[in-house]
Amino acid sequence: MSAEQEFPFRFTPRMRRRLSRRVIDMLLNSLREFPELQGKTITVGYTSAHLGSALVPLREEAAARLTIRLKVKNLTYNTIGHELTHLLQGLSKIHFKAGKASEAMPFGEKQCDIWTLARSPLFLDDAPTYIRLPRKMREDWPRYAKPVRRLCIAALKKRRTHRLYMQWLEARIKGLAKRPVEAKSGEQMGLPF
Ligand SMILES: [Zn+2]
Repeated sequence: MSAEQEFPFRFTPRMRRRLSRRVIDMLLNSLREFPELQGKTITVGYTSAHLGSALVPLREEAAARLTIRLKVKNLTYNTIGHELTHLLQGLSKIHFKAGKASEAMPFGEKQCDIWTLARSPLFLDDAPTYIRLPRKMREDWPRYAKPVRRLCIAALKKRRTHRLYMQWLEARIKGLAKRPVEAKSGEQMGLPF
């Protein structure tokens, strides 16, 4: 970003009142992981009802007005990544329909979580909301975050040939939680495949 007018976010008045340097930095760091959104302006609003939400663009006109809403308190990279991924779900469908892409990212919350975790380790700072995780994994997320991310990446490869890739992923995640924990001594946990 060289010029001021290239600042990629617009904030609603409600958001502006709650904005801090920390939130702006988190947004900029997150956006760097989304080259597809380069050059676009994203409106960031405030929500107190959910961790976040996004207006998934469904038509070309909407693609010009990308909007996400975030709760500022306890904001995580995982939430920002998830909401930006929702924008991509819409944009990729628009591109696909226009014949500009050979495939589209599927809609859906669980899909959004999988694509978000696969995208960057930046988004591992909190457990995903919609992927089914055994409770022990949710409670001890930092220990499982990287192996779960690797499984998400593997699931996206699997998706090319395997329609039930999400079931496959959740079964693998369950298996991961059942394995005896060897990571206690600080060594890295191996992958279950
Ligand atoms: Zn969502």
